[in-house]
Amino acid sequence: MAETKRDYYEVLGVSKSASADEIKKAYRKAAIKYHPDKNPGDKEAEEKFKEAAEAYDVLSDPEKRQKYDQFGHNMGPQGFPGGGFGGFGGGGFSMEDIFSQFGDIFGGHFDNGGFGRASGRGSARGRKPVRKGSDLRINVKLSLADIASGVTKTLKIPTNDKCTYCNGTGAKDGTAFQSCPTCHGSGIVTQMQQSIFGPMQSEAICPQCNGDGKIITTPCSHCSGTGVQRKENTVSFNIPAGVSDGMVLTVKGKGNAPAHGGINGDLLVVVNEIKDPELIRDGNDVIFNLMLDLPTSTLGGAVEVPTITGRARLNIPAGTQPGKVLRLRGKGLPDPNGGAKGDQLINVMVYIPENLTDEQKAQFEAMKSAPNIKPDPATTRRIFSKLKHIFE
Ligand SMILES: [Zn+2]
Ligand SMILES: [Zn+2]
Repeated sequence: MAETKRDYYEVLGVSKSASADEIKKAYRKAAIKYHPDKNPGDKEAEEKFKEAAEAYDVLSDPEKRQKYDQFGHNMGPQGFPGGGFGGFGGGGFSMEDIFSQFGDIFGGHFDNGGFGRASGRGSARGRKPVRKGSDLRINVKLSLADIASGVTKTLKIPTNDKCTYCNGTGAKDGTAFQSCPTCHGSGIVTQMQQSIFGPMQSEAICPQCNGDGKIITTPCSHCSGTGVQRKENTVSFNIPAGVSDGMVLTVKGKGNAPAHGGINGDLLVVVNEIKDPELIRDGNDVIFNLMLDLPTSTLGGAVEVPTITGRARLNIPAGTQPGKVLRLRGKGLPDPNGGAKGDQLINVMVYIPENLTDEQKAQFEAMKSAPNIKPDPATTRRIFSKLKHIFE
């Protein structure tokens, strides 16, 4: 399913570096071209219309766009197995979503054009926009070990939740309503408008009841008629292995409830990577700077090094030069896209002693004249050629 999806930039016909304004313009153009009012009964146009809306939904949101740029379509539900995160394009877009979410695009610019969620489309009848609560954002601190394995977090999150006394309606006991006198309960008012397709009967959301078709007669005393109450919600979610600092994961429907009923916003989980005191992250690899003493680098021996999963023994071959990079294969972090696991790289440095006793000085003096202590030009070339990564 993910493989058959077209690139969102390609869908809108914009470059990867397109500005927010360019993306909005390109979307508007596509939306006008493929709008169902203009292509009645044309399934292909409808699909194109939905495809453009989906592309716009992602590319117009800086967070989603960044995630998409990094992971492409793979960040869908199959990219985050069992995580409960809404990825891209998992559920697809219904026409209802498009009109309720992109009203601003149509509405603001096409007041007389017959477009928009509350305009000439027959299906506007009886449909009011679904109110959505605001998103919540939390930071989650993760160690490299957490990131290596992936973690399940269970957190208590203060939320504006649906008032249980009035079921989120804001009316006493959830029943203290009367039919709206302006729209007689339909939630919609009708008017005639000129459009680019000729005169059209257009429908708008009733201004008095805001499309609900009813108004509150006695407000709920527990929430003062807002329909929401402050509550601590316990939320569990999985963070997949291999995430990186600043990445935002979305837990659908765990944000705030809107006033007077509707669907909850989302919980946005921002990954904060705790800096490891010893290991440096470089993409999926981790780097450790190892300082060897002179005898171990010369004679060889075993040393202990930190890894993501704990201490590990490492054999140092005799004659290990400073600048050498040792590699522990597969000891890095998993690739969130399912690629190869990273490695741990060990940068070897050699500590030259700074304070020698007289006896040690004498030992070095004695070695100075030995022929195998001084590097000859061939040895120098051989060693430098192995340290290309440092000097080139
Ligand atoms: Zn209430
Ligand atoms: Zn009304």
